[in-house]
Amino acid sequence: MHLNIDLYVNATTNGRHDPNSVHPCGQAADISRWRPVGETQWHFFKNDPETATDFESIMAEELGPSLHEAYGPDWLYHLHGMTADDVTELYATHQDHVHISVLPER
Ligand SMILES: [Zn+2]
Repeated sequence: MHLNIDLYVNATTNGRHDPNSVHPCGQAADISRWRPVGETQWHFFKNDPETATDFESIMAEELGPSLHEAYGPDWLYHLHGMTADDVTELYATHQDHVHISVLPER
């Protein structure tokens, strides 16, 4: 994968997550910031929901059928769909990071 940006992963198997989350199984990562390779300044997805959405779509493209979930401040993707309540809650809890999870390897 060649994004040409550094990513700041703020949680994988650590941190607090929804009880149904796949974080504890090592299938999810939360990314809160990015920076162009070689630069020192980090950019927070919190302040830039459009870039978060771009990043989510790139990840969705790269991961293809392995993608399970992509949640961010402006765009949500879940393989099996979501209820309206899920959507409201997921937007509320993903304002400051992008959550990406993959399906288990078969
Ligand atoms: Zn997450």
